[in-house]
This record gives sequence, C-alpha cells and structure tokens, in this order.
Amino acid sequence: MYQTLSNEQLIAVANEFGTPVYVYHAEKINEQFQKLTNAFKDHPTRFFYACKALTNVNILKYMRSIGAYLDCVSINEVKLGLLAGYKPDQLLFTPNCVDFNEILKGAELGVRINIDNLSILEQFGHKFGGSYPVCIRINPHIEAGGNYKISTGHIDSKFGISIHQQRHIARIVKTTGLHVQGLHIHTGSEIKDIDVFLQGLDVIFDIATHFPGLDFIDLGSGFKVPYKDDDQETDVITLGQRVTKAVQEFEKEYQRSVEIWFEPGKYLVSECGYLIVKANVIKHTTASVFVGVNSGFNHLIRPMFYDAYHRISNITDPGGAKRIYTVVGNICETDTFAWDRVLNEVREGDFLVFHNAGAYGFEMSSNFNSRLKPAEVMVQDGKARLIRKADVFEDLLKNQVL
Ligand SMILES: *Cc1c(COP(=O)(O)O)cnc(C)c1O
Repeated sequence: MYQTLSNEQLIAVANEFGTPVYVYHAEKINEQFQKLTNAFKDHPTRFFYACKALTNVNILKYMRSIGAYLDCVSINEVKLGLLAGYKPDQLLFTPNCVDFNEILKGAELGVRINIDNLSILEQFGHKFGGSYPVCIRINPHIEAGGNYKISTGHIDSKFGISIHQQRHIARIVKTTGLHVQGLHIHTGSEIKDIDVFLQGLDVIFDIATHFPGLDFIDLGSGFKVPYKDDDQETDVITLGQRVTKAVQEFEKEYQRSVEIWFEPGKYLVSECGYLIVKANVIKHTTASVFVGVNSGFNHLIRPMFYDAYHRISNITDPGGAKRIYTVVGNICETDTFAWDRVLNEVREGDFLVFHNAGAYGFEMSSNFNSRLKPAEVMVQDGKARLIRKADVFEDLLKNQVL
C-alpha cells in the first residue's frame, strides 16, 4: 500500500503545468494519517495537522476530509482553516511571541488557544477568568530533534513556559480562575528516539496534579520521516503502544480520562510532495560538474537553511549511466541543493525531482531575485489538478507603490 507517484505521472504533470512545479499526492497523506490513527487506536487520540508545513487550502480541505484537525501558528492560518471548512473548536491556535491582540482575535473566532508565555497567560486570565478554557505550552527542557535550529525544547529556546516556572503558572491560574484544559509540549522536529516523547510525558504527569481539569495532553510533534534511502521514520506503532500504556496508567491515578493530542506536520505532508525542476545547464568547472536547474533556494530553502538532504532523481532518463553532480539553482547567491550527488546522467532539458518536498517546501518559498513562485498541483484518484497558479510578473508589483 506504499503510495508514490510514478515517473510517468510526474513527467505528465511537468508537461501539463510547466516547471518548476510542486506536486502533492493526496493518497500518500492519507496513508501517513492512517498509520498514526492506527498506532493510537487503543486510546482516544486527535491529530492536529500542523499546517505551517503546507497551507494550501486544498490540502487543508483534504486534511479535514480524512479526519485531521488543524494546528495553526498565526491568526491567518486560523482564517485559512476556517475557509477550508473547519469548525473553530477543531482548530488549535499555538502562536509564539504574538501580542495579546492576536490571541484575542483567536478567542473571538472561538478557536482553542495554546498559551506559551506567562505575560499572555496573565492577561488572558484577567480577561476571561475561567470562561474560556486554555491549553498551556510547557517547555520541558528536553534535548530533542535533528539540529539546534529545529529543536525547541532546550534551555535557550524561546518556546513554551519553562517547567521551572510552574509555581508562577499555578499562581496565575489560582488568582485568575483560569480553566486549564490541556498541557502541551513540542520539543522539536525529526525525533527518532521514542524515549523523548515518554520523557516529555513524565514531565507533564508530574505537573498535572496542579491542574485537576485536564481533558487532554498534547505531545506536539517531531515525527521523523526518511529523507535518505537508509533513514528510518519514527516508529509510530511502538510510540502508540508506549504512550497509550503510560497515559492509561496516569488516568488511573488522575481519576479522569485524558485524550492524547499530536500535531504532526512533516509526517503527514513531507513524502507526499515532489518538486519537479528542469536542468537548465550542465556546467563543467575544474573542480566539479554542476547541474544548474530552473529553481533555487527561493523555492526550496531546506538544503541551504537546515543542511537538509533531499533525494533527487532524474525522471527523464532513469536508466542513464551514473554520474557525479553538484546540483545548484539559478539564483545569484550560493544555492546548492546537493554536493557530489550520484544521478543518472543528466542532459540539459531533463526533469529532476526533489523528493520529500511537501513539508516546508513551497511554504518557505520567496520571490528572491524577483523570481516567481511555482505552481502547486494535487494528484488525487490518479488525476492531477492545479491548486495554485504560478506567480506572474504582476505579482512582483502587487503591493509596490508605483
Ligand atoms: C512546527 C510545529 C509542529 C510540526 O512539526 P513537524 O516537525 O513538522 O511535525 C507542531 N507543533 C507546533 C507547535 C509547531 O510549531
């Protein structure tokens, strides 16, 4: 049941819609979602798709159709979620370092609110008392995740309210009568080690005694997906068994049932996505053979920003002799996608595909170098449809005052 798009399907999309183009495979999203729901079938569990990974409204609608809720980090993501047909209480608003007005807007819209600093918690408590249940984001100070840029639980992190400030949280809650409905942690991205989730859970259990009205514990995300051939993804089956067992034991002591919540972003949409580009030029230098493609970090910034590895394949000539290339973009800034990558021989005009490009791909794109953002296409039931047009020149001028 492993869902992928074939080279033929990808080439057909490239020919129909042009390149560069992002392509998303709906059934792959569903496959990932089913793996998660299946892993947690023995305990009431909700999955909030962390939509900052990919916010196209068509993707959000699809998420809704398969039963995922939505995690939003800005008021605009909340609005996109509502536009996609979500009900406010299916949306969790987890912003960071926003002013109180943005929180208030979330409250006006009736979404679930996850508060991540003491100042906001206090203002919220004064304004709403116990009338608007909230979730509190705790920083458990657990080291986790692929690298420092994507780790959010460490001591220097700006995220969450430190576990060491729990006395202060308790003071605010007691004084204002806040109704704390959930506790949340999110320690980072690309966590392979399941113990990290269990450690986080222990931290939550420890402080939960101060919050007798919890309905859920939100373990955030950080599920890893394989980028390289020999990479492993987070073992969600074992995670499901261990977390379920721990929470069920906790419930006995706590004498109340609590749901488990998660906020997967990358896990749901990374592998569904492909970025198809065209090889503009092959350039031999004294040191290397470059493939210069019609894209750059303006379309896919992860390699330059996170040192991320994306598998690349030549879909035009998958049987060609193996050669060693450095794959670069066409913008005037160093934008190397891959050094010393073995690809089937690339000729000018060939289509190359970046795999696992669904998460934080289009979403982090820009118009740097006055280049245009690519189109987005969704393939569902074997049919490809355009879900975002590519930029046109006028888009560059849209907000400029002429
Ligand atoms: C980014 C983010 C996520 C999703 O992280 P992934 O690594 O993409 O799964 C979940 N929760 C919060 C609060 C986030 O900021």
